[in-house]
Amino acid sequence: MTNIVSVFAEKCNDYQPNSVQNAVDSLISHMGGVESLVPKNAKVFVKVNLVREMSPEKCGTTHPEVVVALCKKLLTVTPFVTVGDSCAGLYNKATLSSVYSKCAMTEVEQRTSATLNREFGTGVADVDGVVLKQCEFTSAFLDADVVVNVTKLKTHSFTGYTGAVKNLFGLIPGLVKVEMHSRFPELPDFCNLLVDICEFARPKIVLNVIDAVWGMDGNGPTNGNPKFIGQILASANPYALDAVAVSLFGDPLDMPVLQTAVRRGLLCEDLSDVSFDFEQWKQSRLKDFSVPATDRLDFFGDQPAWINRLAKKYMVKRVYPDKTCRGCGKCATHCPAKAITVVKGRAKVDQKKCIHCYCCQELCPFNAVRFRTSPIYKIARRLSGKRDKKKTPSA
Ligand code: SF4
Ligand code: SF4
Repeated sequence: MTNIVSVFAEKCNDYQPNSVQNAVDSLISHMGGVESLVPKNAKVFVKVNLVREMSPEKCGTTHPEVVVALCKKLLTVTPFVTVGDSCAGLYNKATLSSVYSKCAMTEVEQRTSATLNREFGTGVADVDGVVLKQCEFTSAFLDADVVVNVTKLKTHSFTGYTGAVKNLFGLIPGLVKVEMHSRFPELPDFCNLLVDICEFARPKIVLNVIDAVWGMDGNGPTNGNPKFIGQILASANPYALDAVAVSLFGDPLDMPVLQTAVRRGLLCEDLSDVSFDFEQWKQSRLKDFSVPATDRLDFFGDQPAWINRLAKKYMVKRVYPDKTCRGCGKCATHCPAKAITVVKGRAKVDQKKCIHCYCCQELCPFNAVRFRTSPIYKIARRLSGKRDKKKTPSA
């Protein structure tokens, strides 16, 4: 029998404390109240999305106001609330202190008695997933009794969209994530990895929230355009939540992670297991929301291996640092394929080594990494009837 899961959405027009607190309170009450979600005195880890040092106005990270509102609710049942993430780069005090400060997450400590995670221990756990058998995770996650997963609605150059499921990749410490990109360079494997991590974490996750007051379209997850959406969404189920979030701007089944969830029987293809008023939701549908083309190369379904090889060689989008590159070397340090060198103050990519993970685009603090999409790719997508929903970014 199919389990029906509920998703809830509340309008929220701005990040004023009252607006956000009212929306969060209402969502939690729809879900049965905080006492029913979190055991008394439980150790709660609030997993936010702090991809890198970015101010909240850039709309690439979870807004602190949403985290403050959630923490205030959680603190009514337990004093043990820790907020954190393993962002891009090293998982240590220096990196996270700077990220907490730039992302204004420090407000959480100033305005509530929740604490920001400053313990950077890790542990290895058996995942027993489809592609991931064992993995190193942050102790902040492993030691928690329950997890609240709080992310941002935004696009992603590799996976198309990043929401509740993708946010859990940040349960893995810093450079281990880079290693994962090397081990799983192909999009289908990487999506299976994300679903493996999500399935491993799910028994602890009591609540998933998407901050979609302002989101990001275009070249997400860090270099896209802020986009007003005016919603906060919540569910106990991360796949259902992502399906509802994606349906604000497109077809959930166009997103590789959700396709993987469907293939693995974690979400019904027709979304009949999601209790949500999709008809009513159509009125909130976003216009001119630009979604980056993903490297889905399965143009013709189960195509022959030689088509896959050619597609991989000639059709994936390529990265190139443009003239705004300042030669800081951050991309080169974190490139999992060691494909970047900085020569005469400018990064250069060895396209033969590049595995198209797009971490350099995500990490570049100066938005200097551009994409070049192959014309053959565009033609193949058109022929296969899966034309990307690429549109002109809104102003
Ligand atoms: S592309 Fe960006 S991260 Fe890489 S060296 Fe240039 S400025 Fe730094
Ligand atoms: S050059 Fe960029 S896209 Fe290519 S492997 Fe390195 S980080 Fe990933």
